[in-house]
Amino acid sequence: MLKKTGYDILFEPLAIGPVTAKNRFYQVPHCCGMGHLRPRAHAAMRATKAEGGWAVVSTEEAEIHPSSDLSPYAEQRIWDERDVPALRLMTDAVHKHGALAAIELVHNGHHAPNLYSRAPALAPSDTSLELVYPKQARAMSKTDIREFRRWHRLAARRAKQAGFDIVYVYAGHSMTLTQHFLLPEFNTRSDEYGGSLENRARLIRELLEETKEEIGDTCAVALRFAVDELKGADGMQAAEEGRAVVELLAELPDLWDVNVSDWANDSQTTRFALEDGYQIPYIDFVKQVTSKPVVAVSRLSSPDMMASLIKRKVVDFIGAARPSIADPFLPSKIESNRTDEIRECIGCNICVSSDTLGVPIRCTQNPTMGDEWRRGWHPERIEPKVSEAAALVVGGGPSGLECALQLARRGYQVTLAEASDRLGGRVAEEASLKGLSAWLRVRDNRLYELQQKANVDIFTGSELSAAHIRELEIENVFLATGARWRVDGVGRSSRKAIAGLGSMQVFTPHDIMTGAALPEGPLVVYDDDQCYLGGVVADHLSAAGYDTSIVTPAAVVSPWTSYTLEQERVQRTLLQQGVKIHANRTLSHARENSIEANCVFTGEAIELPCAGLILVTERLPQMKLYRHLMKLQESGDLGGMPLRLEVIGDALAPGLIADAVYSGHLAARSFEADPDKVDSALYRREMPSLSDQR
Ligand code: ADP
Ligand code: SF4
Repeated sequence: MLKKTGYDILFEPLAIGPVTAKNRFYQVPHCCGMGHLRPRAHAAMRATKAEGGWAVVSTEEAEIHPSSDLSPYAEQRIWDERDVPALRLMTDAVHKHGALAAIELVHNGHHAPNLYSRAPALAPSDTSLELVYPKQARAMSKTDIREFRRWHRLAARRAKQAGFDIVYVYAGHSMTLTQHFLLPEFNTRSDEYGGSLENRARLIRELLEETKEEIGDTCAVALRFAVDELKGADGMQAAEEGRAVVELLAELPDLWDVNVSDWANDSQTTRFALEDGYQIPYIDFVKQVTSKPVVAVSRLSSPDMMASLIKRKVVDFIGAARPSIADPFLPSKIESNRTDEIRECIGCNICVSSDTLGVPIRCTQNPTMGDEWRRGWHPERIEPKVSEAAALVVGGGPSGLECALQLARRGYQVTLAEASDRLGGRVAEEASLKGLSAWLRVRDNRLYELQQKANVDIFTGSELSAAHIRELEIENVFLATGARWRVDGVGRSSRKAIAGLGSMQVFTPHDIMTGAALPEGPLVVYDDDQCYLGGVVADHLSAAGYDTSIVTPAAVVSPWTSYTLEQERVQRTLLQQGVKIHANRTLSHARENSIEANCVFTGEAIELPCAGLILVTERLPQMKLYRHLMKLQESGDLGGMPLRLEVIGDALAPGLIADAVYSGHLAARSFEADPDKVDSALYRREMPSLSDQR
């Protein structure tokens, strides 16, 4: 394969203890909502990354014992030997592509509620569970500590049996027992496991030594360690104890996998950390302290930055979770000089939300992610066309762009018509709001690829009517006409229009995103959508200098963003910008210069001054064109044209951008495919085996 000068350094092999990675691309452990419940899906997903060129492909965290039971979430599990065959599926699949397989052994301490196992939760000192649940973790006795070390050793033995090449000791993300021992906040012990840093790090040292002793002849032992908690003096800091831990254990692990904790700090979204490489200032000391290889993450997708980090000896491996999800073939694209084709992660954390909701991973940029096994999808391969049929895609939002691109990749002749002067639909609009500029990559990556294709004609400024479609005589039409925000206030909390809207200036998110002129006085955002956009609009307006309030029936602003690990940052930003937050309130009346909001519990009313009201409630699918075409078809007015119509994206059912992309992708893959096959994929799931009930 051709290698671009300057990036060769990324393809140099490097030893990690007794094993050797073929290049510097390292998929660090990341959750995926598959875990022990969906081993076939898990193996297929990880195998795709190995095929895409990652030298190391890791599991998500793997619980080592029933006292670290993360049910109902689907993480990996290596409780006993019965877990080995499912893990073996993954290691075999990864090895087939010449990659190393890594497993992240974990005991989650008081982060694990043990709701299935009902085992007592364990912690260095007595403490509440992290989950709000009326149960506490008990302080571990010396016997407990000895038992825990034995469980870890046994899990390491089973990991080797399952075929793993790298086995982790995990002390990060504020969700691991070993890290809890390190932190004085959780460890108030007075024995040899508490007090001095050396004592608090004793358990990690023991685990590293014992894991090496058990499997170190053939497997590398990695330490995943959070050097900084981003809490300032209230927590571990890279410049102080973070560094001291690395100094203390410098040569013990075969590899240092370093990051910041907790998970919300590690996996920051572009909304709050736009620049890639945001963790580098915290971890850049590590390589000066140890001679062992170092891997770090930071949403790294730029080959220039990757090569520079290795050249400057900041890291030895380019760690990635999200960039490997958005583009499993990132390494192979760099190696074969196709960097323009990299599907860049937009930093939206929809992938994270799948795990926090306990379902298989989904990605905005990569609609095949999570469906490698269920639907047999591959990010780089697609079935070729089965006929010379042509297709018309109406609407250039995320669903229309994705549908057009995949149809074109299959070889069909595609016409894409967009009413407005710019492509991107809701992506282009939402990306104009504060913090969301990186979302434009959803459009740009697709547009770039579409522009390379000779079998695609793109027309902007072309609002198609049913008559136009009849004239075009293209029989296969995909309607990706999107959805519009409601202007009547109907939403989750009220199925009736809000009274008095006629007496006040009312706006929708579309108006804000397209720069509508706003009145001088106070603005109120009414967020009954409760997902992300209401909070973004309030953030955008207040940052632009408007006197902004947000009213929401939810208890906090944008509650859905807790799934993307952003909610605290959302609320903090609004408060710091002086946005007045009125939670637990529905909007009942609009008047000329005020609105009335009622407490959701008592109905008690307050009046808020308001010169302009922005309603973020619900969206209405744009189906006018569809209905018109159906009418023409039914009345036989299409001049005998056998129209095949399919509605996709937000016009079908408003949802996330990821849902719109997925819908466009599915429609393109399903076009002229065997309908039985398409349908059966919808029912495909991993059935529990009834063969072993020990
Ligand atoms: P989705 O998320 O499903 O892709 P969007 O709302 O982002 O939906 O995009 C829909 C796009 O369709 C918008 O850019 C809109 O301008 C365009 N559109 C809607 N109706 C027509 C039409 N009749 N002809 C061409 N484009 C249309
Ligand atoms: Fe990146 Fe969003 Fe995909 Fe996650 S879902 S990998 S953050 S694009």
